[in-house]
Amino acid sequence: QVETLKAKLLEQAQEISRLRSELGGTDVEKHRDLLAAENERLRQEMKACEGELRELRRQQQQAPCRDCPHLQENAGLQEQLSQLQREAEETRAKLVELDLEVQQKTNRLAEVELRLKDSLAERAEEEERLSRRLRDSQETIASLKSQPQQIKYIIKTVEVESAKAKQALCETQSRNQYLQEQVGMQKQVLKEMEQQLQSSQKTEAQLRAQIMMYEAELERAHGQMLEEMQAMEEEKNHAIEEAFSRAQVEMKAVHENLAGVRTNLLTLQPALRTLTHDYNSLKRQVRDFPLLLQETLRSARAEISQAIEEVHSTNRELLRKYRRELQLRKKCHNELVRLKGNIRVFGRVRPITKEDGEGPEAANAVTFDADDDAVLHLLHKGKQVSFELDKVFPPQASQEEVGAAVHTAGVRGGGSHLLTLPCLPQVFQEVQALVTSCIDGYNVCIFAYGQTGAGKTYTMEGTAANPGINQRALQLLFSEVRGKAADWDYAITVSAAEIYNEALRDLLGKEPQEKLEIKLCPDGSGQLYVPGLTEFRVQSVEDINKVFEFGHVKRVTECTNLNEHSSRSHALLIVTVRGLDRSTGLRTTGKLNLVDLAGSERVGRSGAEGSRLREAQHINKSLSALGDVIYALRSRQGHVPFRNSKLTYLLQDSLSGDSKTLMMVQVSPAEKNTSETLCSLKFAERVRSVELGPVSRKAELGSWLSQEHLEVPKRLLGDSPGSAAPPGRGHASPSPGQLSSRSASIRRKLHTSG
Ligand code: ADP
Ligand code: MG
Repeated sequence: QVETLKAKLLEQAQEISRLRSELGGTDVEKHRDLLAAENERLRQEMKACEGELRELRRQQQQAPCRDCPHLQENAGLQEQLSQLQREAEETRAKLVELDLEVQQKTNRLAEVELRLKDSLAERAEEEERLSRRLRDSQETIASLKSQPQQIKYIIKTVEVESAKAKQALCETQSRNQYLQEQVGMQKQVLKEMEQQLQSSQKTEAQLRAQIMMYEAELERAHGQMLEEMQAMEEEKNHAIEEAFSRAQVEMKAVHENLAGVRTNLLTLQPALRTLTHDYNSLKRQVRDFPLLLQETLRSARAEISQAIEEVHSTNRELLRKYRRELQLRKKCHNELVRLKGNIRVFGRVRPITKEDGEGPEAANAVTFDADDDAVLHLLHKGKQVSFELDKVFPPQASQEEVGAAVHTAGVRGGGSHLLTLPCLPQVFQEVQALVTSCIDGYNVCIFAYGQTGAGKTYTMEGTAANPGINQRALQLLFSEVRGKAADWDYAITVSAAEIYNEALRDLLGKEPQEKLEIKLCPDGSGQLYVPGLTEFRVQSVEDINKVFEFGHVKRVTECTNLNEHSSRSHALLIVTVRGLDRSTGLRTTGKLNLVDLAGSERVGRSGAEGSRLREAQHINKSLSALGDVIYALRSRQGHVPFRNSKLTYLLQDSLSGDSKTLMMVQVSPAEKNTSETLCSLKFAERVRSVELGPVSRKAELGSWLSQEHLEVPKRLLGDSPGSAAPPGRGHASPSPGQLSSRSASIRRKLHTSG
């Protein structure tokens, strides 16, 4: 038993040492130290990391990229980092806590060990005691053996005592049990502690993993940051590169521009040089200009004076030629007028007016020849009578002048084809030549003949809107005189007179009732003059208008019925043109007599009495005297009965010699006036028929015709008037004058062609 107990004890002691080594407080301590060292290392790493972080932050601050999109991310990352740090801090705190716990546990473990040691010591003591007692017991047993009784006794006591030992063993065993229990408890505690350690280790591993994770995160953030920084750097570099390349391109363009400008400049330089050169030369020229100008002026002056001299001489020559031409023109003009006849008879038919009334009485009785403007047909009592005058103006003929074609057409024998021109004949245009010759020093008479109301006054005076021959003649005179003003001085005077009942009265005088006498000039020139006849010098159309107005007023105030009066009196407008050629000293005097005759109508022989009869007799006398005078003039008779009437006597110097006369026979186209129209036209033809006096001209013509052996003129000259009349022209009274005029026209034609 002792042996087994001993073995048991040994076993237990071994178990205790084993447990002790197993528990190995030093191991835990070592482990703790290890952990602490690890902790320390981590802390240092963290510090290094922080330092790095700070460095990085500093770098970032040094090279901050403002307005960088990564800045925000960076901030986020930093925040994350700080959070991680916070977490690390927390973990660290936890670690410290755990450390503390470990410390506590270690303390407790030490305590438990101490107690275990105590118990072990107690046990050892007990064992000692027990072994001593065992030895005591054994000695006793030995003594007892030697002393069998004694032994017996002793055995007995031992036996008693063994019970006691058994009891003590039992106690020891229970105590051992208790200790074993305690060891188990301790083991439990140790296990718990180990578990705790394990969990703490796990936590630590977790923390470490977390830290690692954080580190990785940090690394990643750092890497990301670096990456971003790199990207930013790249971006920056890229931008810089781009800007650089752009700048380079721009630079290139600028360079090119510069080169262009340079070349321009190069090309401009010569231009500038030439310009400067030009400018200099111009400046020189300008400087020299006054001199040059003076020189040029001098030479120009010389040239001009020379030219003037030349012009002078040419002018003189021209003037000489001009004078010669003037003479020639005058001669030609005279010849023309002479050829036309110094006395010409025109007919003018007025249009049908309201005064003619209506019905058959106012019907038109006058027709015209479309091809011949000198022929007029009158339908009288159902019979057509034709008359040929120098020219006939139809009702639509205007008062106006000019129209070269018409002018040419107006010259008889100038080619009848021109008559077909659609121009209307213009009265004054036919009169122009006469007015012009007045300036050349010829006397001109223009008469308006016809029954009352046939348009005499209209033709001579016209209306204010459409003036007649009087005004137009004077206007023409003025314009002609103006045209000749360079060489000629002209004085134009006008007088207005009236012959009523063979009494001459001054229409412009102060005493119109005074009868004026016509007297021979005392100088023996054979010229007539009227003493006391008022003359007005006129210089413009306005002057004439004033004179006319004045005369009209006189006539109106003197007579109660102007038309009545005017139809029984001759109204004369005498225009005298006195000219002086300054270069030659030649003087000319021309007279233009514009006469509005009294009405030519016959007064009923039976009905007329007293003053009417006297008036009629006077009118008849003066008109027939005029007819006689004109007839005598045209037939070139030796005696012209000028003195038969006051009118012819007054106009003597204007009817004889080189004077030109125009008789404007006015007729009314109305049916009721046909007998008077017939009378007027007959008078006109009688006056006209004497053209180219039958005796002298005829002989001339006869001798000329005999040379040429022409047939037609012979027939024309023949005694049978019926055969002489050209076909289609039913002349009621073919007169010898008509034949002679026709012969004359043939002669003219032959003359011009041969
Ligand atoms: P006279 O003087 O012969 O008595 P007027 O000249 O007084 O005749 O004319 C009589 C009327 O006929 C006037 O009213 C006048 O205006 C008109 N008359 C005459 N001739 C023409 C004409 N060619 N054109 C238009 N009206 C005319
Ligand atoms: Mg009249």
